[in-house]
Amino acid sequence: MKALRTTFIGIAALPLAVLTFAQTSRRPVTHHSATQTPAAVHASAIVIDTHADTPQRMLDDHYDLTQPLDGGYLNFAAAKQGNLGAEFFSIWVDPRLYPDHAARRTLELIDAVYEQAARTPGQMMMAYSPEDIERAHREHKLAALMGIEGGHSIEDSIGLLRDYYRLGVRYMTLTWSNSNDWADSSGDIDDPNVKHTQDGLTDFGKDVVYEMNRLGMMVDISHVSDKTFYRTVITSRAPVFASHSSARALTNSPRNMTDDMLRAVARSGGPHSHGGVVMVNFYSGFVSDAWRNAWRAQQPEREAAEKAQMAQWKADGKTITYAMTNALDRQWAAKIPRPPLSDLVDHIDHVAKTAGIDHVGLGSDFDGIPASPEGLDSAADLPKITAALMARGYSAEDCRKILGENFLRFFRDVQATAKELQGESPERPAITHSQPPEK
Ligand SMILES: [Zn+2]
Repeated sequence: MKALRTTFIGIAALPLAVLTFAQTSRRPVTHHSATQTPAAVHASAIVIDTHADTPQRMLDDHYDLTQPLDGGYLNFAAAKQGNLGAEFFSIWVDPRLYPDHAARRTLELIDAVYEQAARTPGQMMMAYSPEDIERAHREHKLAALMGIEGGHSIEDSIGLLRDYYRLGVRYMTLTWSNSNDWADSSGDIDDPNVKHTQDGLTDFGKDVVYEMNRLGMMVDISHVSDKTFYRTVITSRAPVFASHSSARALTNSPRNMTDDMLRAVARSGGPHSHGGVVMVNFYSGFVSDAWRNAWRAQQPEREAAEKAQMAQWKADGKTITYAMTNALDRQWAAKIPRPPLSDLVDHIDHVAKTAGIDHVGLGSDFDGIPASPEGLDSAADLPKITAALMARGYSAEDCRKILGENFLRFFRDVQATAKELQGESPERPAITHSQPPEK
């Protein structure tokens, strides 16, 4: 079935290209764009973004989504303008800033999202399921969901993992840029000073994946090392997804996914699964080799300057927050010309053609990245992506899949797998409650 769908997109794209050519050459072509303008298509979609780092702004800077953007990417006004229906707020604990208090910081970030929803019940509602996302859409509210970014948040405890699910967390990225005691990250896999697992996941790591499957928490493979990726795909009983990753064939970052990985995500899950989704990251450094190379070229100078600034802040007795370090990065990023929006659309197009049209979506990384493509300044600019896709021949149906329907299907599959696993045995599976830190 998967192969058929992949072929279908290839064929489906063809007549449209021919049609466009015919249009410019001679006969008048009747096209239904009168009722299907990109703006109308975008407005008709449930738009879902699976990664925004806004909770840190909420927690550290008391940022409220009713306020002006002030350098950020997401607030209610921008979400409304961009018809953003659901946002997964990233619960990300910076392991460098909070090395000993990952769980505490995790809980505070979760609280920041709930507090935002409590203050603005008319504009945002907490959501925990595909049905909740649809309900929020009907009520013209932003559906707020949460995903943990980095398995270090569970502090090697299955109990904490379950607690986070109870608090509403619906996905977890197995690692961030740091490897943890049970899974490896693409961020430090080549660092000989970091201890890594033998097979990508330890036995405990496999238990974590199993328990996520059983709970119905989506398994997110963004950030993990290649080995951990493949081990996870064969371990997970539910389909897996990438909440914010782009294509390595186009931009050679280890954070991006090879074509083989894109196809593996599409095929992931059990026999009843319809496969996972790859939600494309908007970061300039993940969608443009030119930008990435320029960023890497300034790395020694940038890191030295940032280190000096951080030392100064510490000497001044300041508490260093993510907003402060991100502001430094943004100053350096501003020295590099932004890539065109078409670079991002190339990535979406590549994932659609490689994994299949049913396996691609949007994972912006808003408020977590120092730079984005030209014209993409906030959630308000999301309709530009739909316009660019339609200009390339993507149908209204295809666009709605990319904008949210693919993710909703995947979310439902993960829930169905959880139901199956919960039904397999009335007993709770015997899972190691926690593991000692050694691998
Ligand atoms: Zn990330």
